[in-house]
Amino acid sequence: MTRTVKIGILGGAGRMGQMIAREILSGKHKAKLAAAVEHRKSWAIGKDIGGIIGHDPVGVNVMTDKDAAFHASDVLIDFTTPEATLEHAELAFRHAKPVVIGTTGLGSPEMAAIKTASQKTAMLQAANMSVGVNLLLSMVEHMAQMLDEEYDIEIFEAHHRHKVDAPSGTAYALGVAAARGRGIKLEDAIMPARFGQIGARPAGAIGFSVFRGGDVVGDHTVTFAGTGERIELSHKASDRSLFAKGALKAALWLAPQKPGFYAMKDVLGL
Ligand code: NAD
Repeated sequence: MTRTVKIGILGGAGRMGQMIAREILSGKHKAKLAAAVEHRKSWAIGKDIGGIIGHDPVGVNVMTDKDAAFHASDVLIDFTTPEATLEHAELAFRHAKPVVIGTTGLGSPEMAAIKTASQKTAMLQAANMSVGVNLLLSMVEHMAQMLDEEYDIEIFEAHHRHKVDAPSGTAYALGVAAARGRGIKLEDAIMPARFGQIGARPAGAIGFSVFRGGDVVGDHTVTFAGTGERIELSHKASDRSLFAKGALKAALWLAPQKPGFYAMKDVLGL
């Protein structure tokens, strides 16, 4: 019989943090909510996480003490900000505790800290925790491998008005997958959002288009536009709980893993 895994949520009162708490407290998983952490100025400090999500009190108050949270948990889940993720990766190294990182907009310093932590513990980073998007990533890589530069690759993404980074981490990951399929680096082909007299599209460019508005959970479409035909691969998320379920699945999978840097494809066996 597998034992119950103690899970800490970093960013526990955020939109994703609350969904993950709800998923853990649903009782459907071999998981126990061990800690919920927020930054010093959060409105949620000292409040019972159960009450925050409209559940009965569960005896876990949102706190600021990250060392205590790492100590109390077998594995942690981070949905915060890149700045906070950097700190959490350093704590993962110090406590040798696995962390699932869902935060997007990470730059080189954050990725370097995650890679360093992965020498000592199991770290998983995924810009998108959904099964469908992870399938899309492998299909895009495969398609880009088969279709040459006669086919322009454009990545379109749409998200709700509150999203602060662009393009989305998922769109960027799709760009990396397309570039990998073509045997090139995304930096050498990237064509960001355009405006004005931009000239004709260079051959081989991987373009990005972005929409922000309303309550769109997350749409991604990769178009391979050739002469006389277009192939479109799309994923549309309609419920954010999809990401929370994926993050929890990843955490339960990651807890017993050896030190290393993992991705959702490892969890899903893709
Ligand atoms: P949010 O703003 O609702 O929640 C973030 C939480 O982190 C907030 O409660 C905030 O107070 C907390 N926080 C900020 N700084 C902190 C610190 N230093 N220490 C502890 N907590 C801190 O945002 P959200 O919608 O929950 O999204 C969070 C991140 O997750 C974003 O980067 C978003 O793009 C990403 N995201 C990823 C996926 C995925 O599948 N990987 C899905 C949805 C969202």
